[in-house]
Formats: sequence, structure tokens, C-alpha cells
Amino acid sequence: MSDKRPRRTFAVISHPDAGKSTLTEALALHARVINQAGAVHGKGDRRATVSDWMAMEKARGISITSAALQFVYRDHVVNLVDTPGHSDFSEDTYRVLSAVDSAVMLVDAGKGLEPQTLKLFRVCALRGIPVITVINKWDRPGLSPLGLMDEIEQQIKLRPTPLTWPVGEAGDFRGVLDRRTGEFVKYTRTAGGATRAPERRMAADEVEEADTAVWADAVDEHELLSLDDKDHDQERFLAGETTPVMFASALQNFGVAQLLDLLLELAPGPSATTGVDGSVREVEDAFSAFVFKVQSGMNSSHRDRLAYARVVSGTFERGMIVTHASTGRPFATKFAQAMFGRETTSVEQASPGDIIGLVNAQALRVGDTIYEGERIDYPPVPSFAPEHFMTANAADIGRYKQFRKGIEQLDQEGVVQVLRSDLRGDQSPVLAAVGPLQFEVVEERMKNEFNSPIRLSRLEYGVARRTDAAGVQALAGKRGVEVLQRTDGAYLALFIDKWRAQTTVRENPDVLLEELPAGG
Ligand code: GDP
Repeated sequence: MSDKRPRRTFAVISHPDAGKSTLTEALALHARVINQAGAVHGKGDRRATVSDWMAMEKARGISITSAALQFVYRDHVVNLVDTPGHSDFSEDTYRVLSAVDSAVMLVDAGKGLEPQTLKLFRVCALRGIPVITVINKWDRPGLSPLGLMDEIEQQIKLRPTPLTWPVGEAGDFRGVLDRRTGEFVKYTRTAGGATRAPERRMAADEVEEADTAVWADAVDEHELLSLDDKDHDQERFLAGETTPVMFASALQNFGVAQLLDLLLELAPGPSATTGVDGSVREVEDAFSAFVFKVQSGMNSSHRDRLAYARVVSGTFERGMIVTHASTGRPFATKFAQAMFGRETTSVEQASPGDIIGLVNAQALRVGDTIYEGERIDYPPVPSFAPEHFMTANAADIGRYKQFRKGIEQLDQEGVVQVLRSDLRGDQSPVLAAVGPLQFEVVEERMKNEFNSPIRLSRLEYGVARRTDAAGVQALAGKRGVEVLQRTDGAYLALFIDKWRAQTTVRENPDVLLEELPAGG
């Protein structure tokens, strides 16, 4: 029997330090509270929750992979897909976002919109992912809520539709007004590490004396918002025109249950997906999935390659033999795992929206489709315009073989894009990335994992445009532009800056010089 419980597959995204890890832990903890019917004792050290997850996994069927945290909430299966936590913006984030149906954007109440918040909102818009915005850290002094709404509207061009509205200003937070029911959700500050959500619901006429003044302010602002067309509209939310907003304190556990309830109520579940040839796979059709992340070297004694795939349709059963769309070859899913740290558990079955980790997945690349039954091939995960370029050379020429192998592996994982040209030769490929931190990852992994330290040197380019074979001919020998070929076959013309790219476009009107999707 396949598991028919509805799914919610989402990612939490934010600028670093907005509270993503804190919220993730709070969500996991909350799910555990639900699953164990409240049999949870407060923990002084929040860090303990991470290791508790393993025990949880065994006891309660909550499974955590390094790619996704899965738990049951109100008879729904919730998949929280992990996004890279480092401060640099990388392609990994884009790829993970191809595996989710919605996103939760955390904004620090004291800082408002930050550079990565803006970039991430843009990616969600590009991919058509509905976004729920959570204004976090409301227990501390912060910006005015109306000011924050203006920022969202002006800088992101999304209409904010608050579902809750703060009662008491940031730092003197009394709770929220639930704008759809008119209730007061009172917040009670608890000692650090409490696991229970400090929330109490009451009707407007039950608001206590001490809160009546701030409650009246909140009601006024709530009415203002309604007059300004800022009430939730489900259709406009799903169409990516609005973002529902709520106010929370992840650290104090306030708003965590509200957020889970909203995800179940408003966020979309898995839906029909279209292949490159236009054919449509409904969720209940035969099994299909696509790979959005590939990881290797997780276990140094046994170098393995794990491909994370999102189930798009049908039921995955461990052991099933599927077809690998890009090669047409069979792929045996003998080993499918959920893993966290060193702990691994077998996944026996998975449904649309779930994430599976396929072991021994040497043949699978990011963007690949696997399926059963009728052929389906999902569109590739788009690669975004790289803005940083370096040439790579083996530091020790005697280790060239390892160098080649390592670069190939990192290319397949999508850590960087690898570009080549006859002119530069195979010994010194150009590595291209959206964010510069990717190069540190490459250096580190080449040295420690592939035993081939490398030398990187920066190239002056900052802009890439796509061209074609005719463009390669036409641009050959032109000043200020170099054309290289990416492993997927695409030709990229590199320029120092966008002005030079524009000049080349003007001077060569017949040459294809297409802009790539912007990363930032
Ligand atoms: P991440 O980088 O987005 O994963 O952020 P973290 O979860 O590591 O949080 C960054 C810092 O903000 C930590 O010191 C947290 O304790 C703190 N923090 C997170 N959420 C809240 C909150 O709701 N209120 C307050 N006061 N601090 C918070």
C-alpha cells in the first residue's frame, strides 16, 4: 500500500543569521511534541535536539536525510528540504528550490530585507514558487511592521498580505492578531529551551486589561491593511503575486505551530509536472523522479555517490528497476537511503513530494530523470549566470589523473561549471561560479578528497552570455571577449563587464548573445 497522506514539501530560505537553523530545530521539535503526545521535557541545551533526531527517527518514523527532514503533522507528511547554510550565494540553492512546492522566507525583524533575501525572492519568482514570509525575532527590538510591509512591496514587488499582525511593538511583543479569525494569540515568554509553543488563543473581548491599548492599535492597523487590499487571497498567492506574512520568534517557539498550520492550509502540495516534450505526468501516474543534488565523499572509507531525487509521480518502492531518461539504461534502486550524519536507514517507499537518496548513483547527474512506464524527461534544472571565473591547474603535474577525475566529479555535482576551449587546453579548464565561495570548496575538496591540490588564478571576466557555433566563429579573435564551451555543450562568451558585453552586441547584431538567467 502506498502512503496516501497529503504532502507538503518546502524549504526555509533566508539571509544568514535570520534564524533558519533555529526555526528548523523548532519545527522538528514541534513535530516531535505532536508525535509523542506532549511527552517532552524541556532541554537546556538546544544543540541536543540535533542528536535527538536520530533516536526520534527510529522511534517515531521521523526521518532526516542530510537533504530533507521528514515528519508527520496533523496527518500530513511534511518534507523540509535543506538549503545550503553558508553565507555565499550558490547554485545549490537554486537546485534545491527546484525540488520544493513552496518556500518559507525568514526575515530578521531588526534588519529587514537583506541582499540574499532579495536574491532568493527573485529566484522563487523565476521558478514560480509561492512564498510565505515569516518576520522573525519579534521578541527583540526591531523595525516597524508597517515599514517592513512597505519594504516588501517596494523592493520585491510582491504584495504582502499579513495573516497575523503584531500586538505590541518588537521588543515588547504581546502576541499577534489572527487577521482571519479576529482572535488574539497571546505570547508568553518562557525560559530558554522550552519546547512548548507559548501561545494562548482568545477572543477579542477576552483581551486582558494590560493588553487593551496595544490591542486597539493592532486592530486599527489591521483595518488599515484591509482598506489597502492586503488581505490574503489564495489564488493570488499561488500565482506568485502576493506573499502571506506572519510574525514569529523562532527562538521562543512563538509562531512555529501557526506556521505549520499555514503550510498545511495554504501551501500547495505536489502537482502534475510537464516534461521537455510537453507530456504531462500526473502525481498518480507511474513512478518518476528527478535528481536535484549529487553528493560524494560522505564516507571516506567507502567512497560513494549519493543522488537526491524528488519523487514527482507514482510510488517509489525500494528495489524497483527504473529507466534513466538521459541514457535509456536501467537503474536498480537496490539501495535507497535516508541518512543523517553516519546514521542511515533504508527507505522502503516514497510518494510524490518525498526526497529519496539513491546510493551507488554513479550514472546520475543533477537534473536527470528516472522513471517507470512511459518515457518522461523533466526539464534540466537551469544553471544561472556565473559571475566569477578562475583557471584551474594541478599544482603537482604528476597528479594530473586525479586532477581530471576531481574536476569531472565537481562538475557533475554542480559545485562549479567547467568551461573549456582548444586555446586553453584540457590541462587548465576555467571554473565558473555564481558565488566566489564555491572556489574555496573546490580547493578544499581537490586537496583532501581527490589528492590533487590545485592552483587557481582569477580571470577578469564578470559577465557570461550564451552564444552558438556560428557565434564562436564570428567572435574568434575579437577583443574583449573569449568563448568557451561548458560541459553540457553550451557556448559561453565571457566579458569583463556588462558594458563591454553590450558593445559587442551592438557591433555584432547577427551574433546570438543571449543573457543567462541572472543570479543576483
Ligand atoms: P541561520 O544562520 O539563519 O541558520 O540563523 P540561526 O538559526 O543560527 O540564528 C542566528 C542567531 O539568531 C542565533 O544566535 C539565534 O539564537 C538567534 N535567533 C534566531 N531566532 C531568533 C529569535 O526568534 N529571537 C531572537 N532573539 N534570536 C533569534
